[in-house]
Amino acid sequence: MQFKDIEGQQDVKKRLAEIIDSGRVSHAQMVLGATADGALQLALAYLQYLCCENRHDGDSCGECPSCKKMASLMHPDLHFVFPNAATAKVDKNFWSGDFMPEFREFLLQRNARGTLDEWYAHLGIENKQGMIRESDAAHIVSDLALKSYEGGWKMMVVWMAEKMNPAAANKLLKTLEEPTPGTIIMMVCESDERLLPTIRSRVQTITVRGEGAKAKNETDAAFAELLVAWLRLLFKLKMKELSAQVDKMAALNREQQKQFLGYTLGVMRDCFLHGAAGLPVDIGSGDQKFDTMFPTMVTVNNVEMIEQALDEAIMAVERNANAKIALMQLSFSMSRALKKR
Ligand SMILES: [Zn+2]
Repeated sequence: MQFKDIEGQQDVKKRLAEIIDSGRVSHAQMVLGATADGALQLALAYLQYLCCENRHDGDSCGECPSCKKMASLMHPDLHFVFPNAATAKVDKNFWSGDFMPEFREFLLQRNARGTLDEWYAHLGIENKQGMIRESDAAHIVSDLALKSYEGGWKMMVVWMAEKMNPAAANKLLKTLEEPTPGTIIMMVCESDERLLPTIRSRVQTITVRGEGAKAKNETDAAFAELLVAWLRLLFKLKMKELSAQVDKMAALNREQQKQFLGYTLGVMRDCFLHGAAGLPVDIGSGDQKFDTMFPTMVTVNNVEMIEQALDEAIMAVERNANAKIALMQLSFSMSRALKKR
């Protein structure tokens, strides 16, 4: 990927090239922004520029052996970790590397602009929600400790870094504090408030803005409003109010219902990852107290029940079951699960 292949984002491209031109390359760089707005593309173009044997005019040449390997994502010193989950084929002791052929195909097909949901669909885990786990962090540490194949930089791209669970983040911290010379950890992150503050403070951040983030924020804001009203009712279980709320959710079309349930699954997963660490999750309630309290309700004791209830609801929606009945059923299962925390 060359900078010139990326739509817009002139300022960001210029700043990224300047970092390299000035020799102030950071061992831990982050591009903060939506993948749909080119955040991952910019990260890849930055690394290609860094390794190019014939940089000119603020861009890589696109023709040298290094550029060719970077463009096909086959450079032996370019590594990736990304959110993943067990699939039908791989379900034990796995890490991102086990899904690398699929991930490479996904990046090449979508020109590194595919969203997280599209990645889950590509991998066939759309009902699961992935994460970056300790096994991934262990590989980051060990892969970066190896000698560089090509004698140059060793690069690790961490896509959707906010999906790191606390064990992974803690493991990675040490490497961020004492980086091996010649290594770069390049994080791409859509919402850095979900990163541990200790990680955030150790990376150099460049922010990408655009329509992808805006559209996602608008959908998320609408979903957040529905979700928060519903979650509050699950604690009270006042049937009349709950039924009215379920009517509102059932008024979405099938595709939106699926998206909403997927969104809810993502929020629950984030609550589980962050609640234990006492970190608030921006659920969008506009209420700091709720955003801090609710995540503590999703624990190791009920997270599986919650995920299962949401999976069942998603499947019911896919089967064209009666949405109101499916969502009511989900409300009872969720309410039961939340009491088991
Ligand atoms: Zn080149």
